[in-house]
Amino acid sequence: MTKKTVGYVHLEWECPACGTRNKGIDKICHNCGAPQPADVQFEQVAQETLIQDEKLIAEAKAGPDVHCPFCGTRNPATADQCSQCLADLTEAKAREAGQVVGAHQKNAAPDVACSYCGTMNSGTARHCVHCGAALPKAAPEAAAKPQVKRAAGMSKTARFALFGILGLFVVACLAVMILSSRTEEVVGEVQGVSWEYAVAIEALTPVEDEDWRDRVPDDAEILSCQQEVRRTQANPAPGAVEVCGTPYTVDTGTGVGEVVQDCEYQVYDDYCTFTALQWRTFDLVTLTGDDLAPQWPNPSLGQDQRIGEETETYEVIFDADGRSYTYTPNSLSEYTQFTAGSRWILEVNTFNNVRSVTPDR
Ligand SMILES: [Zn+2]
Ligand SMILES: [Zn+2]
Ligand SMILES: [Zn+2]
Repeated sequence: MTKKTVGYVHLEWECPACGTRNKGIDKICHNCGAPQPADVQFEQVAQETLIQDEKLIAEAKAGPDVHCPFCGTRNPATADQCSQCLADLTEAKAREAGQVVGAHQKNAAPDVACSYCGTMNSGTARHCVHCGAALPKAAPEAAAKPQVKRAAGMSKTARFALFGILGLFVVACLAVMILSSRTEEVVGEVQGVSWEYAVAIEALTPVEDEDWRDRVPDDAEILSCQQEVRRTQANPAPGAVEVCGTPYTVDTGTGVGEVVQDCEYQVYDDYCTFTALQWRTFDLVTLTGDDLAPQWPNPSLGQDQRIGEETETYEVIFDADGRSYTYTPNSLSEYTQFTAGSRWILEVNTFNNVRSVTPDR
């Protein structure tokens, strides 16, 4: 984030002795003459207009005012002597500065009614034009805050139903686990075997893809590009687009507020669509058989083609007292043991799945 200064505005403070609102730059209450105490904070005025007076801006930039250690009077940061009691200010304590006092009040403040005579006064007035009474502060326009909408919660019934369904699901899963782990042994005879060997053929194929221009492969053909935000950074850069937040006013400790906004910078770059050659499966060659001597297919490859994934699957059918069971060996060495008519002990679960086989000796 980069903090940008929009300008400077007047603040005000309320005299704790008499309740009068004073201009921020006034160090003494214009009504009762009391100095502004160190713990009385500056506030925003009802409508903030940017100060054009360069001298005043320079004073605001000079640093927070200091309070005289002897009489408490506020003095500018640059003063050596208290304007009130002439005391030395080298040990004087600087006012707090840098606090956010609120969103920049740029718009006209609503009119305020005098609580004594009822006369309507401009929102920026501190005293009634008719009777001179002190006016209440116009309510500043509330800064628009993003409203976070809370997602509607689930109703109680819906929650109960959901828990019910989840519960049933868990029970069903447990039942399946228990049933499938319960096994019995049967003796089966090999009735038949089968195998399938498949080989994928890959070819260099033009494939459309998207990426930033500097990441496009050298041999790719660029179809089109457009400018898109590649990253957002804190500092300005040539060609970057500045995005700034809502301006807000910060207390400088001098009775003048600094209106600032936080900005960041969107850096654009070319995002391109291109076609590049990639290996893609374009055919699958399969050999099958019902013997114990499987063979890999040997396809002839064209230009820009290569062998891709190879898969082998085996299947054995057993007969056990008229009932047929299917078993799938994991490897060729296991598969070749299932000679026709050989006898095996099958571990079979409740769902008739063969969990394991061992030779019946
Ligand atoms: Zn006062
Ligand atoms: Zn003093
Ligand atoms: Zn009045």
